[in-house]
Amino acid sequence: MTTFSLDPGQTAWCAELRALAAERLRPLAEKGEPGHVNRPLVEALGELGLLDRLFEEPSGRGEAGRATSGALGLCLMRESLAYACTEAETALALQGLGAHPVHAVRSAAQRARWLPEARAGRAVAAFALSEPGAGSDAAALSLAAEPDGSEGWRLTGEKRWITNAPEADFYTVFARTSPDAGARGVTAFLVPADRAGLTGTALDMLSPHPIGALAFDVVRVGRDDVLGETDRGFRVAMTTLNRFRPSVGAFAVGMAAAALDASLAHTAERDAFGGKLKDLQSVAHQIAEMATRTEAARLMVYAAAARRRAGGGGSGGGGGGPGSRHRAARRHGEAARHGDRAVRRRRGRSSCTRPRAPARSSPGAPLP
Ligand SMILES: Cc1cc2nc3c(=O)[nH]c(=O)nc-3n(C[C@H](O)[C@H](O)[C@H](O)COP(=O)(O)OP(=O)(O)OC[C@H]3O[C@@H](n4cnc5c(N)ncnc54)[C@H](O)[C@@H]3O)c2cc1C
Repeated sequence: MTTFSLDPGQTAWCAELRALAAERLRPLAEKGEPGHVNRPLVEALGELGLLDRLFEEPSGRGEAGRATSGALGLCLMRESLAYACTEAETALALQGLGAHPVHAVRSAAQRARWLPEARAGRAVAAFALSEPGAGSDAAALSLAAEPDGSEGWRLTGEKRWITNAPEADFYTVFARTSPDAGARGVTAFLVPADRAGLTGTALDMLSPHPIGALAFDVVRVGRDDVLGETDRGFRVAMTTLNRFRPSVGAFAVGMAAAALDASLAHTAERDAFGGKLKDLQSVAHQIAEMATRTEAARLMVYAAAARRRAGGGGSGGGGGGPGSRHRAARRHGEAARHGDRAVRRRRGRSSCTRPRAPARSSPGAPLP
């Protein structure tokens, strides 16, 4: 098992991010309208340079000795933002999920047009993989890309449960170019939101960010819109999901840490039975349990991220493989739920810092 501790530079960076989230991002988040993209918040993430970090190569440490890139850097960033402003964290992660395929696939002609805008937070991205008949089993997707002459395709079908739809400016769309070929017959396309034939509908969800359905009615795409190679798009999808997967747990750890601190503050000030809540043994036991589980989850996230950075993968049997990341994600969900239960007792918290359990934990799901 990997042991782990952050160095002083990393700890300072996390503190800096928490302060930025509380002071700069939370006020913007509070002005946002639930169910809609908060563009000022996304732009602020760009101006603060946080979106840029999503696209840095895992080349080592950045300025001041900080781990600013790679899987661990992404975890530290998501955990720190989630601690102080969950909306900022979600906006950051979703921008990464939608735009990362454009960044990673260097042959795309659309890259020059869209990536600088996405990194600056001026263009909102979305990742469109799921369909009514293809969720966890993403390779079963059926959105049809039929040949349109020698230079293009016509997209026909539907995408559903797409975060940031229908308000995104562009979509990374996974479509079937080879029928009956499973994962080997999928191609990734960049489709601007204003492309003729593409329409979207908002879905009524509990989530504060938008989730919608997209309808493709003979949407024309050309070779310039292909991200990567024809019939190799499933790999683009999985590479993107795998890049973000360990940090889903970090999001939950950040929320659990916020819940723990809120519980500590509340139980220290609340009077009951002639003393403070924190001095009741059963309450102290619950707080200790929360702290232990949160720290355990944090260490599992960091270990999984460190293994990923070191090139760990494998079949799931090893400490940093997909199996380990999934176990860690489950543990984080548990920690977040634990914190949530405790913090619900405390009234008057801002929605920005109120923890929520992670929305999804399926191994194949597009987890932001
Ligand atoms: C809030 C939210 C945001 C989303 N955002 C996006 C997005 O931006 N882009 C996008 O493309 N999609 C998005 N999705 C869709 C999401 O990726 C799917 O919900 C997910 O892939 C699961 O698919 P499903 O809901 O159809 O469940 P199903 O695939 O029908 O799964 C149903 C159940 O079966 C279990 N299951 C499935 N396969 C296995 C297996 N092999 N072994 C054991 N159990 C299994 C699952 O865990 C689940 O409990 C979003 C969903 C939600 C809820």
